[in-house]
Amino acid sequence: MRLARSIAALLLAATALPAAAQDVAPAQVAAMKKLMASKSFATARASLDGDYDRIIKDVITLTEIAAPPFKEETRARAYLEMLRAEGLADVEIDAEGNAMGLCKGTGGGPLLVIAAHLDTVFPAGTDVKVRREGNKLLAPGVGDDTCSLPVLLAFIRAMKAADISTKSDILFVGNVGEEGPGDLRGVRYLLTKGKYKDVDKQFISFEPGRARVTNAGVGSKRYKVIFRGPGGHSLGAFGLVSPAYAMAAAMVEFGKMPVPTEPRTVYNVGIVEGGTSVNSIPFEMAMTVDMRSESATALQAEKDYLFALVPKAVTAENATRSTVKGAITAEIKAIGDRPVGATPMKSNIVQTAGAAMAAAGVTPRFGASSTDSNLPMSIGIPAVTLGSGFETERSHSLDEALILDRPETVKHMAIGLATVLSLAGASVK
Ligand SMILES: [Zn+2]
Repeated sequence: MRLARSIAALLLAATALPAAAQDVAPAQVAAMKKLMASKSFATARASLDGDYDRIIKDVITLTEIAAPPFKEETRARAYLEMLRAEGLADVEIDAEGNAMGLCKGTGGGPLLVIAAHLDTVFPAGTDVKVRREGNKLLAPGVGDDTCSLPVLLAFIRAMKAADISTKSDILFVGNVGEEGPGDLRGVRYLLTKGKYKDVDKQFISFEPGRARVTNAGVGSKRYKVIFRGPGGHSLGAFGLVSPAYAMAAAMVEFGKMPVPTEPRTVYNVGIVEGGTSVNSIPFEMAMTVDMRSESATALQAEKDYLFALVPKAVTAENATRSTVKGAITAEIKAIGDRPVGATPMKSNIVQTAGAAMAAAGVTPRFGASSTDSNLPMSIGIPAVTLGSGFETERSHSLDEALILDRPETVKHMAIGLATVLSLAGASVK
C-alpha cells in the first residue's frame, strides 16, 4: 500500500477546518464511545493485549513463509490452518488462492469481509528469516502486509473471549494478489466471481499503520509498449528503421503529457529495455509505463494520450528511414489496471471507522491510496482500508521493519476491532 494523497489536507486547504473534526458525526462518536465502554469490549480488548506475544509469533511464522506475487500458495495453506484452528465455518481456499473462513452471525446484516493480503513484493529466493534488533523485527514483508494477518485471528479470539455475537456474518480473508503484478486478482475474484459475489456486503482491508482511513482509491493503468523492427548490423544495415528511435520519440511525447494537479494525476516511465549489442540495430525495444489518477476520466485521458502517440512515433520512424527489410511496429500490452473508486465520507463505513478513532482520542486521517479496497469501491461496495495497528518502516525494502510497541499496537488493534464490531452489528453488554 502506498499513501498517495491526503483528502484531509485538501479539505484543510479548502475550508481551514480539520477534516476529522468536521466530518465525523458526533452521534457516531457517542455510539462508539458506548460500545468501547462496555464490559464485553473491555474483555475483548484484554484478549488482544494478552494475545500480543502470540500475534508476534504468528507474524514471524507467516513472514518466514515466502509469498511472492502468484506464489502465495504455501503461505495461504498455513493461514488456512490458522483460520481453521479458530473454529471458523466454511474454511477454504478459493479458485484464485484466497484463504478464508466464516464467523457466522445471528442474521440480519450485510456480510462483512475483512481482509489482509498474503502476497509480498519480494521475489522467490529472498531471505525472509526474521531477526530482532532492539524493539524491531526485521525481514522483507514483515510489515506489508504479513503483520495484519495474525491481527484478524486475534479479532476472532477476542470476540470469543468476550462472547460477542454479531448480526452479520464476518468473512475473514487472507487474499492473494494485492501487490503490483497481482493487480488485485484475489479481491477481484472474491467479490466478482467467488461464492460470496452476490451477497450484500461491506469490505475492510487491513494494512500496516494507524489512524488512517483510506476511503478513496487511486486508479492506475500500466502498459509495456514494445517496438519491433528488422534489426541489422550497425555498419552494413545503416539506414534501416530502428525501434530505438521510434521508442525514444514516443517517450519524449509521453513526457509532455498534460495532466491536472487536481484531481491528482501522474505518470512515469519505469523500465526501458531492449537491444542486443552496441553494433546492432535493435530488433526490439520496450518501455514500461505507469499512469495513475484519482479520477477515472483523467486516467482514461492518460490512456488515450498514450495510445495516440505510439502509432505516430511508429509512422514517423517508418517515414524517416528505410523499411526495405521491414517496418517498425508497436504493441501496447496491458500489465496492470486498478480501478478508481471512492466511498463517500458520509457513508456508514467511513463514519464508523472515523468514529472509532475519535472515540479513542485518535485523530483520523482520511485519504486516497492504492489498495485492495480500490476494487470494491469501483463497484459500489462500501469499503475502507484501515491500519491493523502495527507501525512499520522501510516497507517494500529488504530491511523492512516492524516496531514492537505493545501498548500502542494494542490500542490501535482495539480501534480496528471496535470498527469491525460496530459494522457487523455486535451486541455488547
Ligand atoms: Zn499492502
